[in-house]
Amino acid sequence: MFLDLNPDLTSEQRSLKEQTHKFAEEVMRPAADKLDKLSDPAEVIADDSVLWDVLRQGRELGYHVRALPEELGGVALGPVEQCIVAEEMGWGSAGLAVCMGASSMPFVFAAMLGPPGLIEKHVIPFRDDVKAEFIGCWAITEPEHGGGDQVYIGSKREDIPFIRHGTRARLDGDEWVINGQKSAWVSNGTIATHALLHASIDGTEDERDAGMFFVPLNVDGVTRGKPLDKIGQRDLNQGEVYFDNVRVPADYMLVKPDMYEMVTDIIIATANGGMATTFTGVARSALEEALEYCKVRVAGAKVISKHQLVQKKLFDMFTRVESARALGRAVNVYNTQAMPPEPHYAIAAKVQNTETAFDVASDAVQLLGGCGLSREYPVERIFRDARAAMIEDGDNDTLRLAGARLLLERYT
Ligand SMILES: Cc1cc2nc3c(=O)[nH]c(=O)nc-3n(C[C@H](O)[C@H](O)[C@H](O)COP(=O)(O)OP(=O)(O)OC[C@H]3O[C@@H](n4cnc5c(N)ncnc54)[C@H](O)[C@@H]3O)c2cc1C
Repeated sequence: MFLDLNPDLTSEQRSLKEQTHKFAEEVMRPAADKLDKLSDPAEVIADDSVLWDVLRQGRELGYHVRALPEELGGVALGPVEQCIVAEEMGWGSAGLAVCMGASSMPFVFAAMLGPPGLIEKHVIPFRDDVKAEFIGCWAITEPEHGGGDQVYIGSKREDIPFIRHGTRARLDGDEWVINGQKSAWVSNGTIATHALLHASIDGTEDERDAGMFFVPLNVDGVTRGKPLDKIGQRDLNQGEVYFDNVRVPADYMLVKPDMYEMVTDIIIATANGGMATTFTGVARSALEEALEYCKVRVAGAKVISKHQLVQKKLFDMFTRVESARALGRAVNVYNTQAMPPEPHYAIAAKVQNTETAFDVASDAVQLLGGCGLSREYPVERIFRDARAAMIEDGDNDTLRLAGARLLLERYT
């Protein structure tokens, strides 16, 4: 296994890394290779798909509760431990890592912000679920509003023409009634049983009012789109979720309008921080594939790792991987302590590390020559998976603009 620059890891952290690497290597990687080659994305989620084995084995190892509070039986891993798990999972498969991370989101938020009845009914069964019957999703983007609209580019929300979600919630007695649609990009969109849903509020004085809701999706009025067919992370199910007069109890609103912008910032900081470490793992997997290949491939009368140009390329890739880990880990540790977390640091790490993953994977394709283009070698998939990350969780250009706004606001 490739060693990273972390002499300070405790023996518990090292064994967490080894355990997660084993899961990534023996379970995630082979499943990702299989799922990626399926031509129809509906096959990825078929009853006999290996996807379900990955989710079940991940649950048996407790990865689904790694962010749940300890008082609810979660593991509540610290930031370094979260980074270790995310990097190893990214090494195994970006798409499956995102699938598992997104799956926990509504339950983690419900555990922190939900009423006791909701926690009893939904969070506890999720915690105990080893059959992968509870799958979460984060439903924020919409056909009319991409990630850029959600991160308030240019100026703070109160200063700009408001962005109203097409998905809207109206209070009717002691229930919210939800109508609208989320985009085809929602991870786990067609298999999720529960959503953390962002929606605008109807019937209040301020038209910008929005909130976040915990929504069980096995209720009347919820329908789904087709599983999305896409270039990379093909093992990650995505699809639209439609809401037609869907009713949830009034206290399933987890975040009220007065806290909406702050909690959105916290989610962006957490999600982008997670992307930064996951894609460190993706970059590392491409580097390791290249190292292995260059030590055995003979061209120009010697193994190609003896050619200086190849050595330079490998060393540049190594430098970028180590820098990505250092930035990702520093940002996640900092943002765990900061209250509230600072999204522009997480955005910097997400942008930097997903672009590192793409560049390192592209260099790996180059070093493998013709084999780099072949579907027989994992770098071809890793390259496509990394490309998707530059749009995932906010496309990198609009994230940069949002990061610039925050930087300018903070720098006085
Ligand atoms: C693999 C993957 C997983 C995802 N998972 C989820 C998920 O779990 N939940 C979810 O809700 N969404 C998810 N998304 C959606 C993702 O967040 C959006 O695709 C992303 O934010 C971009 O939005 P868009 O596709 O609508 O592009 P748009 O916002 O339409 O952007 C199109 C182009 O216009 C540019 N642009 C947009 N606005 C501006 C502006 N104000 N100024 C300058 N340029 C601008 C952008 O830079 C981009 O180049 C996922 C996407 C991917 C690829």
